[in-house]
Amino acid sequence: MRAVSCYVHVPFCRHICYYCGFCRQKYNETLEEAWLNQIQKEIDDKHLTQLETLYFGGGTPNVLSASGLKRLCEMFRPYLDSVYEWTIECNPELVTYDQVKMFKQMGINRISLGVQTLNNSLLKSIGRHHTSDDVFKAIELCFEQDIRNVSVDLMFALPNQTIDDIKKDLQQIVQLNVPHLSIYSLQIEENSIFQKQNIQPIDEDLEADMYEMIVQFCKQNGFTHYEISSFAKNKFFSKHNMKYWSDQDFIGIGCGACGKEKGTLYENTKNLNVYLQKGPCPTLIQEDIKEQSFDSIMMSLRTIFGLDIQQWENKYQMNFRKQYQKVLQQYIPDHLQIINGHLIPTEKGFEILNTILVDFLEIH
Ligand code: SF4
Repeated sequence: MRAVSCYVHVPFCRHICYYCGFCRQKYNETLEEAWLNQIQKEIDDKHLTQLETLYFGGGTPNVLSASGLKRLCEMFRPYLDSVYEWTIECNPELVTYDQVKMFKQMGINRISLGVQTLNNSLLKSIGRHHTSDDVFKAIELCFEQDIRNVSVDLMFALPNQTIDDIKKDLQQIVQLNVPHLSIYSLQIEENSIFQKQNIQPIDEDLEADMYEMIVQFCKQNGFTHYEISSFAKNKFFSKHNMKYWSDQDFIGIGCGACGKEKGTLYENTKNLNVYLQKGPCPTLIQEDIKEQSFDSIMMSLRTIFGLDIQQWENKYQMNFRKQYQKVLQQYIPDHLQIINGHLIPTEKGFEILNTILVDFLEIH
């Protein structure tokens, strides 16, 4: 079956954040033109069919010029007859009235904002150039254009950040009425400015306390903790990400994009010059059936929808309950439960998910 989800990686940013280890580089117009030409070529070569979800991520997709963004959207128009979720990641400082209006006209129906924190001095300290006012304005512009499905990315475990700082962020976010929140703890990534500055991660216990506080706060304020790092109100789940978490294929387009087709993972070149000259040059990540079946368990247990045991058994031709009898006995009912044929972590299970997965891996 053809993949019905597509991720497009836009590798440009206005500034480079201190914590960033993604595939990105500073935006310039000449590169934009060449990059768009190569994206068109990749779309044609892939023989895309109709999509259900489309995701423009980055980098910073909304750093592209108005005409560049429009061209990128137009390229996908032939494949969007049955699309039900089309997301674009945006940097708040670059969001304008005209931009959001164009998103609406094109059919983009979900905006993911890289907020990180609403504390202006913390934002500065991690190399972000927007302020909390930019965030408020960006969300208002989305709502004005009737794009209600707005997601906020929030970071925690930042240097010098306190639990109180995060609580203040969350209190303000709740006031903003956004239906989706994704949280990320700071990782010191290779080749990031923070790594070069030898910035150290915060204390592990403090990080765990921060996570626990965020989960409690979000639940008390009407969010469903539906994935280990994601919260949604009124079922505004990320449908695109649900494809990753439920072991489905997705097409990756652009320099630095990952994809999975016919069950095989791949990663396109991260080198923009190589991409512009030779195309995506994907590296195939060959996994044997054992690795694939474990990845499927690992990704599915991230969500409250869990692992569809029958589907897993059909796909990987193994008897799940027999194979993992020991782990299931150990963790059911406190940390795992089976509901309607799905293996689902409890809230306590989410807290020790890594330990549970190690136990799965050990007898895999
Ligand atoms: S964190 Fe995001 S916005 Fe910042 S440099 Fe990296 S890709 Fe660009």
